[in-house]
This record gives sequence, structure tokens and C-alpha cells, in this order.
Amino acid sequence: MLGNKINIVVRIRPLIPTENSKGCVKLMNKLNQLLLQKEFYQVQFKFDNILSKNQGQKSLFNSVSYIVTYFMVGLNGTIFAYGQTGAGKTYSVIGEDCNLKDSNKGVLPRAIHQIFQSKKEKSFRLHVSFYEIYCEKIYDLFDFEDRKEKSTKDKYKLKELILKEGSNGSFSAEGLKSYEINTEEEALLLYEKGLANRATKASLMNKKSSRSHAIFEIYLEKESKGDKKHIVRSKLRIVDLAGSEKCSLRNIYSLKNRDKYIKELTAINGSLSSLGQCISALADPKRKHVPFRNSKLTKILKDSLEISAKIALIICISPSLDSYDETVSTLQFADRAK
Ligand code: ADP
Ligand code: MG
Repeated sequence: MLGNKINIVVRIRPLIPTENSKGCVKLMNKLNQLLLQKEFYQVQFKFDNILSKNQGQKSLFNSVSYIVTYFMVGLNGTIFAYGQTGAGKTYSVIGEDCNLKDSNKGVLPRAIHQIFQSKKEKSFRLHVSFYEIYCEKIYDLFDFEDRKEKSTKDKYKLKELILKEGSNGSFSAEGLKSYEINTEEEALLLYEKGLANRATKASLMNKKSSRSHAIFEIYLEKESKGDKKHIVRSKLRIVDLAGSEKCSLRNIYSLKNRDKYIKELTAINGSLSSLGQCISALADPKRKHVPFRNSKLTKILKDSLEISAKIALIICISPSLDSYDETVSTLQFADRAK
């Protein structure tokens, strides 16, 4: 029997100048309720934890930091940022930039900070990996190799990794690079280099980074205390998911790169909906099985989708009337994970 309580944190970002300044989201804090209104339509949602536009990065991190605490004692944990493009996923994960001194820094730099604050024992070893899934293909973002001898086109291609199923039923990306980290600065520097790799290669390959899932993993290895010594291992994942928007057909037909766009959209919708199915199954005490085999994303995250794993979903929404339809569908996704 499953029944893992998923921690859902809904975050309403402030309006930004480029969008319709008319709002559609009302927060009734005392009731933990969100009321969405557009013309004659109205929908209500209830969530335990809703962050208003005035609640900053610190409040957000306070809601998920317990996952880092569990990770340090050996439990796997994952923090997902979900929502349409522009809703605040990357802001929540990174902040404006990775600067350690920045008071607006996001969940990832704060998690790394917490890890190094509590890493007192010398026997701890930490490694990190960073990769993305684009159109059901896995690319290593720590692939820093400069392929001088290759043709220009190949030079800017990230190495595609093959997913292998192990004898214990878990999946791993073959050849995925990982680096040992000894300080907070080292970890963030690697993260920034990976991000830069993602951005340059994405623009040179003519794809937007919001079309892929970016997964940062931290592995911990330490010797257990007590008489029988053994090695304790755990994994913390911080995932900036691809934009969840479902584009209307009218928009697609007017596009130049229509076929590519449809392919991307199909891959994103497929993987996000299988992630949704896994999370709903995990949250449901009556279910016995998590259907993780339907996408690369859920296969590779299998050990994050187990009953003992800690999961937080940061659900990002825009308050603007322009986003009404997408916001409703984002909140429906979150609702199914309750
Ligand atoms: P996404 O990654 O979901 O596509 P972004 O994180 O890039 O969206 O956010 C879009 C814009 O909104 C950015 O300019 C970002 O700085 C701003 N933004 C997002 N969330 C917040 C927030 N909570 N407070 C202030 N600005 C935000
Ligand atoms: Mg983003």
C-alpha cells in the first residue's frame, strides 16, 4: 500500500510588467483557499501551504528544507518546480542568480548551504550531477568538453546518455558525469557552469531551455554510526521541470517550426502527465503500484518516487488573467497529488 504524503507548496508570483495587470487569483489565507475567476467562470482550490506574492525565497525554503535534513540522515528526497513557462520555476530554484550573498537566492543555493552547514563529520562524501531531458533524450550538462575537432554542429551538441536498467530495477544514465564537492562555492560554480552549458547549447541548437527538464542531483555517502558499520547513501534531487503549458492548436498552426514544436509539446506533456500519475499513485493509500515506466523522466527518478522518499512540489502560478486557463490546469495537477 502506498500513501506517501506529498508536500505541495503553491506559490503565486507577483505580476510582471509584460502581462495583463488584471488578476484572476484570490487568496483566502485563513481558509487555505484559492479562488480563480474569469468572466462567468469560477473555480476553487484548497491547499495547506500557499505562498502569496509577498512571501519571499526564505519562506519558500522554510517549507521544503526538512527534505534536506532527511537527506543528510540518508533518505532520498526530491524538490520539483512545476508550472507554465514564466510562472516562476527557475526563480524559485535559483533566484535571480546563484550569488551566495544574494538575499533572493532560491532553493538550490540554500539547500547547498544547509548541507555544508550540517556537514560536520569528515566521513561525509558529496558528489553532484546535472543533466536535462529534452524530447525524451537525456543530456549531460556536465559535458564540458570542447569538441574542437568536430564539425560546428556536433561541437554544440551535448552528449546524449543512454538509460540502462540495473538488476535491482532502478535506472541510471550510462556515463553520467559526477564531481566530488568539498565546499559550497565549488558546488555552485559547477551548477553555474552546467547552466551556462544548457543555455549556450540550447540557443545554438535553437531550442529554449524551458522546453527541457533540468535535474540537479546531490549524492551523499557516509559511514553509519554504531557497532555494525555500513555505508549510508542518499540522493537529493532538485528539478526545474519543463513548462507545463498546453498550447492551442491555433497557435501551433501559425508557427514556422510547427513539427518540432509539436514533438516538444508531446514529449513534455507525456512526461509531465506520467510524473503526475506516479505522484498521484504514491499519494493514494489504495494504490499498490507506481507506473514509472511511461517516460524517461519517471524512470530515471524511480528512486525518488518510492514510499520512503520525501517529495515536495513547488507549484508556480502567475496571478494574471492572461494565465487563467494554464493556472487552472496547473492547480488541477497539484490537486491530484494531494
Ligand atoms: P519559469 O522558470 O517558470 O519560466 P521564471 O522563474 O523565469 O519562470 O520567472 C519569470 C519572471 O518572473 C522572471 O523575470 C522572474 O524574475 C520573475 N519572478 C518569478 N517569480 C518571482 C517571485 N516570486 N518574485 C519576484 N519575481 C519573480
Ligand atoms: Mg525557467
